[in-house]
Amino acid sequence: SSIFASVEMAPRDPILGLTEAFNADTRATKVNLGVGVYYDDNGKIPLLAAVKAAEKARLETMPPRGYQPIEGLNAYNQAVQNLLFGAGSELLAAGRVITAEALGGTGALKIGADFLKRISPNAKVYISDPSWENHRALFESAGFVVENYPYYDAATRGVNFAGMKSFLEGLAAGSIIILHACCHNPTGADLSDAQWQEVVDVCKAKGLVPFLDMAYQGFADGIDADAVAVRAFSASGLQFFVSSSFSKSFSLYGERVGALSVVTASKEESARVLSQVKRVIRTNYSNPPTHGGAVVAAVLSTPELRQMWEDELAGMRDRIRAMRVALVDKLKAKGVAQDFSFVVKQRGMFSYTGLTSAQVDVLRNEFGIYAVGTGRICLAALNSKNIDAVVDAIAAVLK
Ligand code: PMP
Repeated sequence: SSIFASVEMAPRDPILGLTEAFNADTRATKVNLGVGVYYDDNGKIPLLAAVKAAEKARLETMPPRGYQPIEGLNAYNQAVQNLLFGAGSELLAAGRVITAEALGGTGALKIGADFLKRISPNAKVYISDPSWENHRALFESAGFVVENYPYYDAATRGVNFAGMKSFLEGLAAGSIIILHACCHNPTGADLSDAQWQEVVDVCKAKGLVPFLDMAYQGFADGIDADAVAVRAFSASGLQFFVSSSFSKSFSLYGERVGALSVVTASKEESARVLSQVKRVIRTNYSNPPTHGGAVVAAVLSTPELRQMWEDELAGMRDRIRAMRVALVDKLKAKGVAQDFSFVVKQRGMFSYTGLTSAQVDVLRNEFGIYAVGTGRICLAALNSKNIDAVVDAIAAVLK
């Protein structure tokens, strides 16, 4: 019989499954709020003008496609470091940061997880409750036991910071803590700057291993403002991990452009750590592809293109914020009694709306409005053409 005879069907990815159902829906008025990508006001994934210009320049030179170094393009890795740690960072000057280009933020998390498994095989991994659903799967597939730490508080629609902090204080030294550096996915609820400092202090006092996941830099308040967590850990003297991604901020989802950065105790330690991270990469996919990293590096290091990108990023950020404000205002104008003002305070692409799974079902079945069963919606999927239909449907469901 076939060697696959006993292979079981894997469960469907809940969010990709939603998109399949959406695609099969024939209603012209359908709206998919379940996605995790930025759409422009025309409902399209943008190709940024800065990216277009860099790609055009690159392709005109018809570059050969040799192998990259295992850790990727040096110019790219340096550009990543400057964005995350700040161009004047003392850590960078001291050689205490290593960065390896990775296949998106997901690839960065996976390399980091595999490397951590080699150096801390018995550590437990803690993710926020709730978290991006792939966090658990990624770290479990690297061989770790993964548990939740308290995070979202449905009553306040914010962070249960007291619960989170006291939980972290009770963890064993060496525990690995996955932290959303900004724009928490799925809730949109972030820590304040002061709370970040408290988390840094707990990690330091308890000997925890922080792993910051930065998938949305520039989507909340701006490039430097959104790096507040990275900067707070940088000032602490701790060793920590950062996974980062340009999927969202450059609208380069399919090019798979991300990076793993590791902050070490010294330049000498950096050399040893990089050598091991390279080993993990070598045995997974050998080295990253050429195009995405070259384009991002060109944009970030060419002043004119960089300005263009910063303006386009601000445009995406402002549009999402405008949709948050419009959603709240329009729901109110529709006579919805419930206070939705929390939506304006949430940050990044997502909002936990508080809609129940039963209400989400009605939105889909009766109105063709698709949201995740948890009530998560993507604000970047709203636009000036579909927002009124979405508001009408939510208002009807809440009546
Ligand atoms: N972390 C979080 C919190 C995310 O939301 C995402 C993307 N949805 C990623 C990591 C992965 O990013 P990428 O698509 O670059 O792999």
